[in-house]
Amino acid sequence: MINVTKSFLPPLETYTKMLEGIWNRAYLTNNGPLLLELEEKLKEYFGANHFIFLNNGTSALQIAIKGLGITGEVITTPFSYVATTSSIVWENCEPVFADINKESLTIDASLIEPLITKKTSAILATHVYGIPCNIEAIDKIAKKHNLKVIYDAAHAFGVNYKGRPLVNYGDASTLSFHATKLFHTTEGGGIVANDDQVAHRFGYMRNFGHKGQEDFWGVGINAKNSEFHAAMGLCVFPYVEEIIKKRRELSELYDELLLGKGLKITRPLIPEGTEPNYAYYPVLFENEGALLSVRDSLNAEYVYPRRYFYPGLSNLNYVKKYAVPVSDETSHRVLCLPLYYDLENDQVKRICQVITHVLRFKS
Ligand SMILES: *Cc1c(COP(=O)(O)O)cnc(C)c1O
Repeated sequence: MINVTKSFLPPLETYTKMLEGIWNRAYLTNNGPLLLELEEKLKEYFGANHFIFLNNGTSALQIAIKGLGITGEVITTPFSYVATTSSIVWENCEPVFADINKESLTIDASLIEPLITKKTSAILATHVYGIPCNIEAIDKIAKKHNLKVIYDAAHAFGVNYKGRPLVNYGDASTLSFHATKLFHTTEGGGIVANDDQVAHRFGYMRNFGHKGQEDFWGVGINAKNSEFHAAMGLCVFPYVEEIIKKRRELSELYDELLLGKGLKITRPLIPEGTEPNYAYYPVLFENEGALLSVRDSLNAEYVYPRRYFYPGLSNLNYVKKYAVPVSDETSHRVLCLPLYYDLENDQVKRICQVITHVLRFKS
């Protein structure tokens, strides 16, 4: 069976070695030494002033929204994972959807300004599949209208944009280290920020608002993460370059076997100045019918690609519906093919044979 992804696992001995340390110290959570070490390593890797390690990427979004004082309307992308939108609603804000750019599949920056009202306080955009949003344009709009910018950078670990880590743009960028992500800590996530005060708020918010044992800065929640999760992160981190390299090779093999062969498959466009991380391998078919035929034929061979992201988020039953035709149309045509560290070349070849057969002979 081949799933869309498979978690990377470091050698078991390196993890058990870390567990021995945890056992010796009997210190399991609350800013233990492994957590501090991971935070320090990642902060450096991200080239940022602050990195706040959290229990997942969804609480990262929620804390970023609350910690930046965002209220009212948030202009956001309809083409992302559900957590991008649900976090906005969970924080009592209203998502306002701007359609996506049909080449890059990230929010179309030229559609943001007309949606700004007196109630707008932020832009929350996703670097979907690790493809950078139009950061320059978003930054300009945000400055002009005094809006906060949060990037959902859950897919962006290891991507560089204009020589700088993509996760280090905006007022805050949120990450997910869920087991299915390129870099993971089993469950986990965090926020990258550069402003000291903002980072301080994120820091106390993740730990009940504590300021010492008997005093409180303000309202908080429990979004801490543990030594066990930090240990996994420390064990996976040394393999990041190797993981990206392997994914690049597999992606290039897919490219070679699927593109330029008259198969009516297209790929999203990656903006200039991007060093990608190959976190996903999304392909766009001509229509939903072609996608479903391909999926059915792959499923018959025990291969399970995923419809990331379908349905479009403007169709959720708890948000106001907006006309976002590009996003809706894209979500009907896009499929992520299997891509992970120990996927084999022969498996990619087999997947491409099935796809080629379906598109040549069935549709
Ligand atoms: C995975 C993901 C999240 C949620 O992260 P969790 O760690 O699973 O809570 C949020 N946004 C995007 C775009 C994601 O892919």
